[in-house]
Amino acid sequence: MTQVQQVTVLGATGSIGRSTLDVLARHPQRYQAFALTGFTRLAELEALCLQHRPRFAVTPDADSARHLQGGLKAAGLDTRVLFGAAGLCEVSAHPQVDTVMAAIVGAAGLAPTLAAVTAGKRILLANKEALVMSGALFMQAVRNSGSVLLPIDSEHNAIFQCLPLDYARGLGAVGVRRILLTASGGPFRETPLQELAQVTPEQACAHPNWSMGRKISVDSASMMNKGLELIEACWLFDARPSQVEVVIHPQSVIHSLVDYVDGSVLAQLGNPDMRTPIAHALAWPERVDSGVTALDLFKVARLDFQPPDQQRFPCLRLARQVAESGGNAAAMLNAANEVAVAAFLERRLGFTDIPRLIEEVLNREPVLPVENLEDVMAADRSARNVATAWLGRHAQK
Ligand code: NAD
Ligand code: MG
Repeated sequence: MTQVQQVTVLGATGSIGRSTLDVLARHPQRYQAFALTGFTRLAELEALCLQHRPRFAVTPDADSARHLQGGLKAAGLDTRVLFGAAGLCEVSAHPQVDTVMAAIVGAAGLAPTLAAVTAGKRILLANKEALVMSGALFMQAVRNSGSVLLPIDSEHNAIFQCLPLDYARGLGAVGVRRILLTASGGPFRETPLQELAQVTPEQACAHPNWSMGRKISVDSASMMNKGLELIEACWLFDARPSQVEVVIHPQSVIHSLVDYVDGSVLAQLGNPDMRTPIAHALAWPERVDSGVTALDLFKVARLDFQPPDQQRFPCLRLARQVAESGGNAAAMLNAANEVAVAAFLERRLGFTDIPRLIEEVLNREPVLPVENLEDVMAADRSARNVATAWLGRHAQK
């Protein structure tokens, strides 16, 4: 009988967080929620605590922590409530934690995820922005601590499943020619180009195949999500940007493929439900039930593929450019994108202005080498400043 794995879920109230808790609850003999964190929707965090009875919960500030602590105590729970960035790092690096699900959205997840890496935890990485921002530093920290890093992004989880165990020897050494990163193309794959400037946040968040948080939904609509994933794949699998090809596959049944020099192409398929990669990473190298229904190929019936339209999706070009330039460029791209997406969701920026704003930031700021985390944070700050100033001049209202 193996020991029960203690799991911290960063971003427990989000889409990935909830799917994670769903899988954990199916296997109480294997997994226990050790800590749950939330930022908004704190009533939902309280409900999740009552259901999963974690040792710790983390809220954004002292007031919300006191409030939640009171509620949990009244319900007879001895969950300790921490708050802020220090609380997030504490539950990520806690000696009793085995596994950390990194599912905070955006740059806010970087510090706690790195804290978990440094403490040598098993990392289930959904928070792609953290890796995109800090790339080389992040991977070096993984090697230094010996932490096991498992991708949750469905594409990267698929690639991981299609690679041999010793892929860290180098893609060339294990006979890989290319990685084929699939993309659904999002809700605007066929929208007439002249209509894109007018699309609304509601339309952008209505993804055809996946149900996700609002930020990643907008990223999927602009295909910046695939751009971030291209950078993510380069770091996770030590690939050159030219070795990663983006393939539009509207059905989202093939989650990505690996093309080998002998002509074999391996793919991972499944229904589009994040509980599959989550269960895979939780149990790896074993397999457990995820609650996902079996794939019905007769119902799928056909699989389509097409190259991405560069004119429709300029974010892809920007991300590839950044992947090539290295240094602090990806941190700047990520920060500018976060500012642009937030402004779009607040209806202060048009959809087609998202890549315009990002390109403006990339053109204005020099690419500098990254030696340490402070270099990453400085790039993040200066890109946000330039992006916010640009918004002040161009935003609606
Ligand atoms: P979401 O918006 O549903 O959830 C985000 C979570 O992060 C919430 O728990 C929220 O409280 C927390 N959070 C937000 N801002 C925070 C801050 N400043 N400090 C601390 N916590 C904060 O997002 P999601 O769809 O679950 O995505 C989470 C991450 O997983 C993202 O990086 C996304 O790119 C990645 N991801 C998501 C999916 C998916 O299907 N949803 C798939 C692949 C990768
Ligand atoms: Mg993905």
